[in-house]
Amino acid sequence: MTRKKLVTAAREGLVAWEGIIAHGRGEAFDYLLGERTLPQAEVAARAAVAYLLRADRPLLSVNGNVAVLAADEIGDLARATRARVEVNVFHRTEERVEALVALLEERGIGRVLGRNPDASLPGLEHPRALSSHEGIYDADVVLVPLEDGDRAEVLVGMGKTVISIDLNPLSRTNRAATVAVVDELVRALRIMVAFAREAKDEPEMAETAQGAYEKAGNLRGVLGAIQENLEAHATEEGGVGDNV
Ligand code: ATP
Repeated sequence: MTRKKLVTAAREGLVAWEGIIAHGRGEAFDYLLGERTLPQAEVAARAAVAYLLRADRPLLSVNGNVAVLAADEIGDLARATRARVEVNVFHRTEERVEALVALLEERGIGRVLGRNPDASLPGLEHPRALSSHEGIYDADVVLVPLEDGDRAEVLVGMGKTVISIDLNPLSRTNRAATVAVVDELVRALRIMVAFAREAKDEPEMAETAQGAYEKAGNLRGVLGAIQENLEAHATEEGGVGDNV
């Protein structure tokens, strides 16, 4: 169903074909993780929410894949964390941005940014650098699901707290991010929404969640879980079995 949704969206111009390839990379990593949320991802997701709740200017950045697969979850998270939402696409055309903003607004997200960029992220070529002062440019904490490494590195270089959601534990985005949630987009966002609702009026809960996250150890744990998963399959009779 997910693949079908993305292919339809690509035919309609909402998602670039490169987004379909990126999805395939994600699926491959999800197999290696056992297609489940690891405890490490849960800890990272809760820390990510804590950063968003404690931010002055939280921002959720949405590209084509994210809008098509998770518009409702993005809306829920934006409401629970009082974050702004901005459409930032890698392969920018005005038509695609307009269609994605319209899709998000139709799903009940108010005043989505991205139509009229008035700022430029330093060090990136023009279309990918376009952004809004009201949005990602002046935000202090940014969620960038399924982001590319160059932009993530630029955002970190601008002094922002960067939160990634990305199934590839080795991606440059995850390596650059302050908090790396190695999980499937929709699974991760649902955990984040639930925790945001729980912690939004509980500052101590957010502080504890933020303090419980240590990035290097967390990513080591993810790689260890992949290794264990592979070893479990390799030692099964015939070398293959259920993907858990
Ligand atoms: P980087 O530049 O960060 O090293 P990349 O070149 O793969 O990585 P992109 O193609 O922009 O950069 O990244 C998309 C990332 O999103 C990939 O790492 C892919 O595994 C991941 N991804 C794709 N679909 C999903 C999904 N549904 N949930 C979580 N992650 C996903």
